Amino acid sequence: MSSTALQAYEDRYPVLPVADAREIVGHHVPSVGTEIVDLEQIAGRILAAPIIAEEDVPSFPAATVDGYAIDASTRGTDFEVALELIAGEDGTRRSVGPRGAARIMTGAPLPRGTNAVVMFEDADESAGRVRIRRTPREGENVRAPGSDLARGQEVLPAGSIVGPPEIGLLASLGIARCRVGRRARVAILSTGDEIVSHRENPGPGAIRDSNGPALVAAVEESGGDAVILPRVGDDYARLRETIERALGTHDVLITSGGVSVGTRDLIKPILESLGTVHFGRIALRPGKPLTFATSGARLVFGLPGNPVSALVTFEVFVRPVLRRMQGDRRPERPRVQVVTASRLRPTPDRTEYQRASIRWEDGTLVARSTGSQSSSRLLSMAGANGLLEILPGGDPVDAGTRVPALITGALA
Ligand code: AMP
Ligand code: MG
Repeated sequence: MSSTALQAYEDRYPVLPVADAREIVGHHVPSVGTEIVDLEQIAGRILAAPIIAEEDVPSFPAATVDGYAIDASTRGTDFEVALELIAGEDGTRRSVGPRGAARIMTGAPLPRGTNAVVMFEDADESAGRVRIRRTPREGENVRAPGSDLARGQEVLPAGSIVGPPEIGLLASLGIARCRVGRRARVAILSTGDEIVSHRENPGPGAIRDSNGPALVAAVEESGGDAVILPRVGDDYARLRETIERALGTHDVLITSGGVSVGTRDLIKPILESLGTVHFGRIALRPGKPLTFATSGARLVFGLPGNPVSALVTFEVFVRPVLRRMQGDRRPERPRVQVVTASRLRPTPDRTEYQRASIRWEDGTLVARSTGSQSSSRLLSMAGANGLLEILPGGDPVDAGTRVPALITGALA
């Protein structure tokens, strides 16, 4: 590239601080609407509207132990065993008389005339009579109607992430489907004449596409719906056509590669011709050439080609957007203070995200580097459950110092 062309590139794409770049992206996140999803498919989705209980749970007074249902206000300890009630029987239609007891199983409705349950362990039954060893309080061992969920109560607010307990709550209320945020439709395109499918044998000079499959997984994990586009190589016309078509049917396009200053780095000019490029360089390591553009309401993230750069920029820039699009009100990873086990040297002019393995050790979260942080070395990410955030400039950070980290995986 000529020096004037390089100068033009640098003028057109000033290096933005990470925070400024994230703010710009944040201004362009569209709302993609909602859809109704069956309970069977709803895990991980985000409620678009609050869930209100339309009935009491439980709907009847139910025994919480196996024992004898009696009227707790009865004097004396001797009762006649009038009934047996097992769970599923409509005991509320039956009744015991004065000094009567019902042998009752956990979950069964209490019969009329009773208001407490004495556990089997606190009673002796023989010849149709039961003697209790302890007088219960009214309501003891009974789950009152509405005590778990009261009719009219807001059970889950809008924005709740639906996990196992939420699904259980919906099921217990008889809610078989509900309205959730739609998942963003995301197209993924790997560029590069040297890239072949991982199913092919790379010839001389070629390498397998690792970004495509990795980004599909990253999108799905972030709550988006990913499709991978057929690669078309670094050909301006074919690349432009592929991108234009993808933008017609997807909310977000993620490309990898082709965003630097090489002669075959075509993504920036193509995006300029299809919409607005909001930034094309950021003060981030790895990931300096990250490019962000919009075309109407569609977003395009031009990730760098190096596999680590692609996944780190996805993590910091794309994941929160996909989570927000489907309604997550807290789309960011948890950010915590960890203690670095090794000395860290800040990059003079870029925020650095170093891949680390973070573990509890004696009551503190300790971060260990995952080895060489070269941007092609995916192994540095595979072993990582966190990204240490090292701000630009400043003195080296000594081992034993607290640094902020994004928690990106399970804590070991
Ligand atoms: P680029 O950003 O296109 O200059 O690519 C930077 C580096 O990342 C080059 O060494 C590429 O070969 C490599 N690379 C680009 N795309 C991929 C991909 N999809 N999978 C693995 N490596 C890639
Ligand atoms: Mg390339």
